[in-house]
Amino acid sequence: MATLLKAAPISQRIVKDLTYECTQLKEKGLTPHLQVILVGEHPPSVIYTRNKKKFMENMGATCDIHKLPEDISEKDFLEILKGHGSNPKNNGLFVQLPLPSHLSHIDVGQLVPPEKDVDGFHAHNLYSLLSGDKGDNSLLPCTPKGVITMLQEHNVTLEGKKVAIIGRSLIVGKPLTLLMTNHNATVTLCHSRTENLKEVCQNADIIVAAIGKARFLDNSFLNKDKNQILIDVGINHDESGKLCGDIDQASVEDHCALLTPVPGGVGKMTILSLGENLIQATKIQMENSHV
Ligand code: NAD
Repeated sequence: MATLLKAAPISQRIVKDLTYECTQLKEKGLTPHLQVILVGEHPPSVIYTRNKKKFMENMGATCDIHKLPEDISEKDFLEILKGHGSNPKNNGLFVQLPLPSHLSHIDVGQLVPPEKDVDGFHAHNLYSLLSGDKGDNSLLPCTPKGVITMLQEHNVTLEGKKVAIIGRSLIVGKPLTLLMTNHNATVTLCHSRTENLKEVCQNADIIVAAIGKARFLDNSFLNKDKNQILIDVGINHDESGKLCGDIDQASVEDHCALLTPVPGGVGKMTILSLGENLIQATKIQMENSHV
């Protein structure tokens, strides 16, 4: 039976560290502040932003959600985003995605100042990742960062490991490919057009599923050695509405060594990364004397 890589024990330690960091910054006269922009009432987005706010307040930071109407004009939206970007009170800023269809062409990541870009989507931060950074000199995208933290906390080294990542999105698969490469793993980035996907997965030491298909990956993707590590990024609802990942836990748990659960795995790590990024962003701004 696989060992479950749960976020909860890691979370306790990281929240303690983040709370300490917040206290230190407050003693220097600065409370880290996260500004969130939420357009419309997309139910999962409302829940995600509420959870992020709760997390920030729990660690001692402040967070404000600026709710905008679904039908806001592009001009007004851009003005509000620009205003938040230039407001020195905001140490971190992000727009909760997805945006309504009339705004979805806007690459919001590029409109947030890179030093406030707690989502890690600005070209400056992505280029740093491309250049080999592991997060020392830039703000990393939250989910990839959370996956690395999860592995490090469980003493899984990436050096020399073969990794298969399934899913090539800009928020998960692509940045995680770069980040794991920067940690000296050998990464194969797979997607819907990949041939012999099962074979690629069977040859990997670590498999990351970021596909968005409920329980897609079962034990037929695994080799017989039972020593593979499975990271489930997916957040889906099955036909009965139950929350589940991209990995069929019941099918794989007797065929691998380590497995992240859904819920209680990568999703929680993503919020922790956001907290870490807010602290890092605040420190960058202090060093640059912007605050
Ligand atoms: P996406 O929806 O943008 O893209 C899905 C990817 O999966 C594509 O690259 C596609 O090529 C690939 N894919 C689809 N079908 C495939 C198949 N049959 N074989 C191989 N590859 C296939 O991806 P995303 O935005 O990265 O989201 C993926 C999942 O991760 C979703 O369930 C999402 O909700 C979840 N997610 C979770 C977190 C978290 O914090 N845990 C963060 C972001 C996304």
